[in-house]
Amino acid sequence: MQAAAAATANTNIDPAVREFLGRRMKMLIDGKWVDSVSGKTFQTIDPSTEESLAEIPDGNAEDVDRAVRAARRAFESGPWASMSASERGRAIWKLADLIEQHAEEFAQLETLDNGKPLSVARAADIPLVVDHFRYYAGWATKVEGETIPVSAPGMLAYTLREPVGVVGQIIPWNFPLLMLAWKLGAALACGNTVVLKPAEQTPLSALRFGELLDDAGIPPGVVNIVTGFGETAGAPIVDHPGIDKIAFTGSTEVGKSIMSAASKTLKRVSLELGGKSPNIVFADADLDEAAAGAAAAIYFNHGQCCCAGSRLFIEQKAYDKVMPKLIEYSEKISLGPGMDPATQMGPLVSSEQFTRVTGFLTAGQKEGATVATGGGRPSRFDKGYFVAPTVFTDVRPDMKVVREEIFGPVVCAIPFKDPEDVVRAGNETTYGLAAAVWTRDIGKAHRAARLLKAGTVWINCYNQFDAAAPFGGYKQSGFGREMGKAALDLYTQIKTVWVNTGA
Ligand code: NAP
Ligand code: MG
Repeated sequence: MQAAAAATANTNIDPAVREFLGRRMKMLIDGKWVDSVSGKTFQTIDPSTEESLAEIPDGNAEDVDRAVRAARRAFESGPWASMSASERGRAIWKLADLIEQHAEEFAQLETLDNGKPLSVARAADIPLVVDHFRYYAGWATKVEGETIPVSAPGMLAYTLREPVGVVGQIIPWNFPLLMLAWKLGAALACGNTVVLKPAEQTPLSALRFGELLDDAGIPPGVVNIVTGFGETAGAPIVDHPGIDKIAFTGSTEVGKSIMSAASKTLKRVSLELGGKSPNIVFADADLDEAAAGAAAAIYFNHGQCCCAGSRLFIEQKAYDKVMPKLIEYSEKISLGPGMDPATQMGPLVSSEQFTRVTGFLTAGQKEGATVATGGGRPSRFDKGYFVAPTVFTDVRPDMKVVREEIFGPVVCAIPFKDPEDVVRAGNETTYGLAAAVWTRDIGKAHRAARLLKAGTVWINCYNQFDAAAPFGGYKQSGFGREMGKAALDLYTQIKTVWVNTGA
């Protein structure tokens, strides 16, 4: 609360947010708000002030077990199990309405907990969440099987598309409520029940969200929210034999450990992991738009986006035109607390991320890269995890800053001479989440889109998202597609039924 007051010097904090933060936080298990079995708590921090916002229950394997048992009961019997698809759709739609009614509250909670500018939470995060639930509310009644033209005489074969069961969902801190929506929308539309673990850095919006479920008509036990740390609350979800599927978004490293742990109980797994996305500017592009797009591609959400355009390839002929504009954008961005209306970029989410990102800044310089602008925390901040928008030049493909995901407002600018070769250079990464090309040559754009090894390719734009458009990775950026019709595959399984019609 102290931090909330300090950080909000410029924006009136919503009374409902103030009241929420003053409450004793609990976890949601079987429709009830409960303390962790251990009674332990941890603090969630406002990254602008480094002060505590609230004490959060520190869940462990016992809490997870209670949540899984509740989710299993809700899946097998009771109101959710017998709810019609249309009722389910209506409940999800109602959830969207309720989030919309509380949009300002959710936007402020995201800003306080994550650090992002309130203007961004209001204009991007929360409206996307609402759209997402509405989109999947519509799918609830459209999850269909097929009739199969089998050859055996007198046999009728058809398929049922059934829910997978109890789903464990582990989400990151970069878009806390949006990542929750990406996970829950499709899972609920398909009739599953869920044990969800929000990131330890940003649990607040998930807990507030949990309070809306009952009003939306979602029965107890359908969505259980266990707060806590990855190793003590996340890993038990992955290990629990009562969970049928794991959906994870986060780092590639943790994704690998989850896949390996899930193999012990042979759970199905979908992973949305890191990226090192190439953003390619050809000399024939609208260079003003491309430069603005390049800045937005890396600086949106302070670079804490899995699809951030962190490797910027610029055709040599256009390099001297694009770079000054990119640097101008970088230097003009107003960095400050998210609750300040003037802020365009907030702090990084946590001290760990601050250390990680500034570690990359040091490593890049040690390896010989040049900091064209930015390079660390501006001296006017004596607290808060602020990092200035940073552009590295003079980089080589083997440098750490070019190969590894930084997950901060740091872009490597790389000139290229051969337009035929740049796609190969762009693909030279273990990741494959997203890519973009900027050109006025429509043929070149589509050729590049075909050749880029990434789950999403943007042409003359960046960071476009829609609940209807699938999103996910190639290569070590993971597998499985969230959003769109594709996400239904993650949360359903197919049963084939054979009928002897006696004909
Ligand atoms: P992370 O460790 O992968 O965390 C993501 C989620 O997984 C959190 O809920 C985390 O819980 C949980 N988790 C961690 N270890 C786990 C385990 N062994 N078993 C089950 N769950 C586990 O990511 P991070 O530490 O927050 O960030 C580190 C890096 O990950 C970033 O710098 C970035 O490169 C990448 N990242 C990518 C995305 C993305 O959207 N693809 C999002 C966030 C981060 P706790 O938070 O409690 O540890
Ligand atoms: Mg926080």
